[in-house]
Amino acid sequence: MEQGIATQKAPRSALYACITMMLVATMAQGSLTTDAPYHQVDRCALVDDLQFDGQAANASVQWQVDLGPRLPGSNVSESFRQTITDQLTTLGYEVTQQEHQRYDMNLTNVFATWTPNGTSTGTLVLSAHYDSRNIADQDDNENNRTLPVPGANDAASGVAVLLELANHIPTMGLDHEVVLFFNDAEDQDQQYTLGAEAWAENLTQSEIASTHAFVLLDMVGDADLQLHNVLPGNETLKSRVVELGTDLGLVNGTVDCRGGAGLDVVQYDTLVGVLDDHVHADALGIPSIDIMDTSYGEPKPYTFGSYWHTMEDTPDKVSAESLGAVGRLVELGLRTQAFVNLGEEIESGDDHPSHADADVEDGVSTGSKTLASLAAVGLFSIIGFILLVEWKRKP
Ligand SMILES: [Zn+2]
Repeated sequence: MEQGIATQKAPRSALYACITMMLVATMAQGSLTTDAPYHQVDRCALVDDLQFDGQAANASVQWQVDLGPRLPGSNVSESFRQTITDQLTTLGYEVTQQEHQRYDMNLTNVFATWTPNGTSTGTLVLSAHYDSRNIADQDDNENNRTLPVPGANDAASGVAVLLELANHIPTMGLDHEVVLFFNDAEDQDQQYTLGAEAWAENLTQSEIASTHAFVLLDMVGDADLQLHNVLPGNETLKSRVVELGTDLGLVNGTVDCRGGAGLDVVQYDTLVGVLDDHVHADALGIPSIDIMDTSYGEPKPYTFGSYWHTMEDTPDKVSAESLGAVGRLVELGLRTQAFVNLGEEIESGDDHPSHADADVEDGVSTGSKTLASLAAVGLFSIIGFILLVEWKRKP
C-alpha cells in the first residue's frame, strides 16, 4: 500500500456514537433493514463450527517466502500463479488471468471464481496482492535498501488467508459468486496498486452493479495483530467487522460469544488513511473495506511500523494465531452474509442492491466513498471530537 499516514485515536465512545448517529440517520431514511439476512443470523451459533486453519495459512506464508521475491514478470511470480491455479482448479474454482502492461512492468492478475449451483445473486470480491516489494527502502541498513523484501506479512499473509478460505468456501452453501482476486504489482518502487487499478478500469457497468463488495486483506499476519479503521472504506462493512470481531473475542472491552473478554485486536477507534488496492473499487461506488494492520513492528513515523518495507518482514514476525483470527472473522462474515446485500431495502424487495442504496446507507449521498469517509470524519469533528487525518505521501 502506498501511503501513510497520521493516525489519531478517537475515543471508542466517539466512534460508537458516530456509528449510532449514522444508523439513526439511515433508519430515518428507511434504507437499513434490521431484518436483512445478516441480522437474522445467530452468529454465535456458528462460531464453534468455523473451519479456518491458521496453521495451514501460516505454512502458506512460509511457502510463498521460500519461493523468493514475487516480482511482477518474474519466474517466481509465474511459479506462484501456476501452483495456486492448480490448487484452486482442483477445488472447483474457475481460474483466469488478465495481463496488463504498466510502466515497465508486465503484471498478471489472477481470479479464482466460485460459482454456486443454481442462480447467483451477485459477486463478492475478496482480494490480496501477491507481489512482494522489490526494494526494502525503509530498512535501517542502507545496504539492504535495494534488495527485495521477503514479504511475509506484506503480501504473503493476505494471500495465505485467501488460499485457506478457498478450501472452505465451496462448502458454505453461498448463493452468490465469490471471486478470489490475487492482484499483482501493488507494491513496486513508487508505483502502487497497479493490478487493482487495471482490474477496476476494465470492469463493465453491469459487473460493477453486480458486485456486492470488495474486501481487501493486507498485512494481516502480524503476530502482534492490530486491525485498524482504514479510510476510505464503507461504514456498513466496518461496523460488521467490529460486530464479527466482537463475536470472536477480538474487541477490547466486549464479551465474546463464549463469554470471554475480548482481546484488543480490532481497533477501529484508530483511523488511518491508506491508499491501498481497495480505493479503486471504492471510487467506482463498490462498497469496499481494507482489513489491515497498519502497525507492523515498533511505531515509526510516517510508516506502517519498523518491519514494514524492510528485510525484517519475515515469517517469524507472522503467526498462525493472527492469520487464524482474520481468517475466522472473514469466514464468519461469509457464513452470515455480512459482506453482501449491503444496501438491500425491505420495501423494494430488490434481489440486488444498487450502489446508490449503499451510499445512502453510509449516510452521505455521493459517488465517492473517499469523500463519504472524509465527510464522516468532518462530522466527527463537528460534534466535538477533534480528529486529524493527514494524507501524506510517505518519504
Ligand atoms: Zn507494502
